[in-house]
Amino acid sequence: MPAPLTRQRPRTCVACRTEAPKRALVRVVRTPEGSAVVDMTGKLPGRGAYLCLNVECLHKARKNGALSRALKTSLTDECWEDLERCIEHYAKEYGPEERTRELRSLLGLARRARLLLIGMDAIQAEAEKGKPLLLLKAGDCSETVRKFAERLAAGAHQCLELPLDIDELSAALGTGSVQVVALTARSGLADKLQILLSK
Ligand SMILES: [Zn+2]
Repeated sequence: MPAPLTRQRPRTCVACRTEAPKRALVRVVRTPEGSAVVDMTGKLPGRGAYLCLNVECLHKARKNGALSRALKTSLTDECWEDLERCIEHYAKEYGPEERTRELRSLLGLARRARLLLIGMDAIQAEAEKGKPLLLLKAGDCSETVRKFAERLAAGAHQCLELPLDIDELSAALGTGSVQVVALTARSGLADKLQILLSK
């Protein structure tokens, strides 16, 4: 049997037609019995279709028949319920929303524990002492902040961009407008933040 052509197409949610990076979509595969299961490995054989990792798109796909059409099978109520449970579970575990929530709470925690340097002045003063820092900048930070972070990252320090804008970062910290924060690199907290940001 020839390889399915769907492999070459960009991954698109069958319900909302949004193209998305692979990790934000979940693959649903038709089983030999004509039912369907969620395939988190992305490697199960069989006809597959992609859905956003949220139950809204599953509901939409059920209503408009998009998933049944893509898989060329009709699904039982039981199967739809199983899919819903499964997608709910993975959405909690892997969803970008959950990661962002965790990130916000870690940043808030770091600030309350006084482990966070807030703003360019505080960061510059600490950077001059030579201890390696991990800088975290807001997605919409100014050109000045971006250059400042780049300059430090060219030396002993590291810089990562947060999936938060200035308002979201400031809200997470409970402060006025903040564009960049930093903490001691290679600390437990810095490691945790880096893992969250690398997913
Ligand atoms: Zn979708």
